[in-house]
Amino acid sequence: MAKVFCIANQKGGVGKTTTTVNLAAGLARVGQRVLVVDLDPQGNATMGSGVDKRAMALSVYDVLLESAGILEARQRSEAGGYDVLGANRELAGAEVELVALERRDQRLRAALAAAAADPAGHYDFVLIDCPPSLSLLTLNGLCSAHGVIVPMQCEYFALEGLSDLVNTIKQVHANLNRDLQVIGLLRVMFDPRITLQQQVSDQLKAHFGDKVFNTVIPRNVRLAEAPSYGQAGVVFDASSKGAQAYIAFAQELVQRVASLGMAA
Ligand code: ADP
Ligand code: MG
Repeated sequence: MAKVFCIANQKGGVGKTTTTVNLAAGLARVGQRVLVVDLDPQGNATMGSGVDKRAMALSVYDVLLESAGILEARQRSEAGGYDVLGANRELAGAEVELVALERRDQRLRAALAAAAADPAGHYDFVLIDCPPSLSLLTLNGLCSAHGVIVPMQCEYFALEGLSDLVNTIKQVHANLNRDLQVIGLLRVMFDPRITLQQQVSDQLKAHFGDKVFNTVIPRNVRLAEAPSYGQAGVVFDASSKGAQAYIAFAQELVQRVASLGMAA
């Protein structure tokens, strides 16, 4: 069975999408079968995987409204070596349409289960790139997942936003999805020369202990350049410091998943 992880943080611009696509490409490099689910109407994970969000006949929107299954709607990231259930602006409307429907928070979970029942839909990992909000879309992600990976920048307000996310995860765990746990916090866009970042990083470790991944993702321009080529940094320039860090993170995640007893 696939391990399903949300990449979530309700702040924008904190590295969710960069983490999703680079982790996907990093896992694909070591032979893992990966599906990226883009739950952000901005469609950055879609475009950053080399899939044109404007040219998709079907997307995650159709899946959430149950007018298509994942196996029909998914696309291939040829460069990344993984599949993508893409998103575009249409998804912004889904939020409103879903409110009136039954099982509105369980739509993605049901679709993933249906795909997994077909041999063509077997994945080792499903990575869900969440939008920058604690919305019904994010809730669909959290209700589908075994775990949450939280990318964060080591800045002053980072810890403040974290408690809202942790509370939401606790609520979902208690009421909607007993499988859900925080897998870990990933420090991203890190610059060790900035004293404040070191201090916040130390605070994070003091407060969250082993929940903080050992791998630290540095600020690296190659990671920022890669999406305009429709590639993850791991594919675009595998030797760059940023790509190397994400490859190390993919390995750390595989180990952590095994140590949590989540291995397939
Ligand atoms: P989110 O999905 O949380 O909104 P993104 O992954 O889109 O965040 O990242 C926000 C911006 O920061 C993007 O322009 C991205 O290219 C850039 N970025 C992300 N991670 C890094 C990094 N480690 N080094 C340099 N730039 C980064
Ligand atoms: Mg994003």
